[in-house]
Amino acid sequence: MYLAHQTWPELGEYHANESLAVVPLGSTEQHGPHLPEGTDHMIAEALAREATDRTDYLCTPPIPIGVSSHHRQFHGTMWVEPPVFRDYVENLSRNLTYHGIDRIVYVNAHGGNVAHLREVGSRLHDDGTAYAIEWMWDESIPELIDDVFETPGPHGGPKETAMIMHIAENLVREDRLESARDGGAVFDYDAERVHGATTFYDCIENSKNGVFGDQTDATPEIGAELFAAATDQLVALLEWLDDQPFDDLMPDSHLDPQPGSGREGKRTGRR
Ligand SMILES: [Zn+2]
Repeated sequence: MYLAHQTWPELGEYHANESLAVVPLGSTEQHGPHLPEGTDHMIAEALAREATDRTDYLCTPPIPIGVSSHHRQFHGTMWVEPPVFRDYVENLSRNLTYHGIDRIVYVNAHGGNVAHLREVGSRLHDDGTAYAIEWMWDESIPELIDDVFETPGPHGGPKETAMIMHIAENLVREDRLESARDGGAVFDYDAERVHGATTFYDCIENSKNGVFGDQTDATPEIGAELFAAATDQLVALLEWLDDQPFDDLMPDSHLDPQPGSGREGKRTGRR
């Protein structure tokens, strides 16, 4: 169920019966010479829409701009500063709770957003407002990604290329796959450390054309396989989350000082 296509009475009915919402988030940032800048938010939205179409849970419009200043040297990259991003996501999450939502999945497709979405989820968790968790599509299917690609690449690599081939093939510059590979880098995070320290901040420090991995390994068929597998994971997560009693998602306010005495931990006052 896509919020932007519903009327308010239809949404009133949803809120009377359900309390889960899915919020897709990504970025608008360079993805090399071969992929569109909307790659991340397009992937997030496509997965969120597919999983919510299958389950009938509520999907909000996407948040298309995230924390991306580490790609700023490449033309067109858009970003907001982390505190602005966190406050914006927190605000709209609290707005969802006004209508009765008490659990949220941030369907995310941009690594730079992860820490900030965790921070927002933790704020909502700490005051008992809502249970909000971050879900990153490629983290849900690591073995499949390792199976199908030799060098998946953390950014603009074959996994994102294959996903866009599946979602919006006309936006992939197929004639630039080889130059994307040859002008980019194979990234090994551990090898990039200096005496244990991470010494880089911006993408340009590791890749001249902004991407990593071998993009020529991507095919629409692999993209379809990744998309289906990640959607299955997301559907399972939504169903699990919907099944949890709200109190079980929140910690007790204090430990039981006399474990085994049968006294329950005291909960803070919340819905
Ligand atoms: Zn990306």
